[in-house]
Amino acid sequence: MKYDKKYEIMLSMLESAGYQAYIVGGCVRDMLLGRPVSDIDITTNALPEQIMEVFSGMKVIPTGIKHGTVTVLYDSEPFEITTFRVDGSYSDSRRPDSVKFSSSLEEDLARRDLTINAMAMDIRGKVHDPFCGEADLKAGILRCVGEPEKRFAEDALRILRTVRFASVLGYRTDEKTETAALAMRSRLGLISRERCRDELIKMIMGSHFAETALRYREIIAQLIPEFRPCFDFQQRSKYHKYDVYEHIVRAVEAAPDNELLRTAMLLHDIGKPQMFKLDENGVGHFKGHAGVSADIAREVMKRLRFSSDFTESVCTIIAYHSDTIGSEKHIKRMISRIGAENLFMLLEAKKADNLAKCEFVLDENPYFDKCAEIARELIRQDQCMSLRQLAVNGNDMKELGLCGKAIGAVLEALLALVIDEELPNEKDRLIAYTKEELL
Ligand code: ATP
Ligand code: MG
Repeated sequence: MKYDKKYEIMLSMLESAGYQAYIVGGCVRDMLLGRPVSDIDITTNALPEQIMEVFSGMKVIPTGIKHGTVTVLYDSEPFEITTFRVDGSYSDSRRPDSVKFSSSLEEDLARRDLTINAMAMDIRGKVHDPFCGEADLKAGILRCVGEPEKRFAEDALRILRTVRFASVLGYRTDEKTETAALAMRSRLGLISRERCRDELIKMIMGSHFAETALRYREIIAQLIPEFRPCFDFQQRSKYHKYDVYEHIVRAVEAAPDNELLRTAMLLHDIGKPQMFKLDENGVGHFKGHAGVSADIAREVMKRLRFSSDFTESVCTIIAYHSDTIGSEKHIKRMISRIGAENLFMLLEAKKADNLAKCEFVLDENPYFDKCAEIARELIRQDQCMSLRQLAVNGNDMKELGLCGKAIGAVLEALLALVIDEELPNEKDRLIAYTKEELL
């Protein structure tokens, strides 16, 4: 654990100055589980000014000083140090109206969401656990600290955090907590879309996502109502053993550990119900669903404030996910059209898609690995697949008397011919061809 020494030094600096200090929350949970720790939070009875004084020799950023949080950079790694606090009343289901500093560790732990997130550990490794979080951790139970209705009413994001931990840890939710989470799901509308998006991303990265997303589908549909038509939608196809929604969530779980890919799988078939056609033999078809799904994905991702670059890549993968990938030439064309990175993602997406269909479809997956191999070889050979690699450029076209849009059009036409191996990528030949055929 790379943090070990550093956080110990920070705890001991606070203790030497006469304060109590603990690591707290998610990092204690993850350490007890032996999971990688993403960020270390420290809690102390020192007030913000006192924290700043203790760490005056280091870079200190008063990130949230009103709420008692300062960030200390140790070897440029950030540590959040927060004064024990109790949250005031919540009138909007998202932020406390006020926070009050406290001198009690237990009060600070009581404001935390789940028992497994409400433990603190001191420098000697002693765990402070007034809500029996360690027992819940061992038993695999997600349980609110205190009354679930009250805690979800205070901050509805806790509903999503609970579902996220179910997906990541594979835990079951205590009955009262689960009932309240489902009953109070409409309050998620009060939470900022960015915060919902961040939880959703963590949720889809979980290794128990499929089971979780099936159980809490109403909560997921609160964020993405476009899923509703997919629930229980029978595909009537020999390739599919699951309904559209179950296929989607299983494809997410089958995808590699990559946010972009998993987001693409989450939305890849969302437009299927709209495009469903039953043929005369009673077989279901979804022609055109990839494009429609990409359109819906774009809207969903805009609403959830995903960045535009991320959205574009996700939508590209979705738009092409049901195309067949053919010959070497086709692979070249695809690289030229969507870029090598997106093509590699697309091939992984196709494998994940198959993993959530009937078993026999899996026979196709080694072929996608072969396609990736071919693509890598084409790149290694520096084969011409983009305008940048073409042996002629805009200036050459100007010298031939072309201007404006015609330049781009001619270059694109030449690139297509080079990719299709109808012309070699040689300047003289390309210029001669342009003069003869394209002017
Ligand atoms: P991770 O860092 O792995 O995403 P985490 O549980 O550590 O998960 P953080 O956002 O780092 O999440 O929060 C640190 C701790 O703060 C949590 O473990 C929990 O004790 C508390 N906490 C975070 N968000 C809430 C919330 N909405 N309501 C109550 N307590 C919260
Ligand atoms: Mg954390």
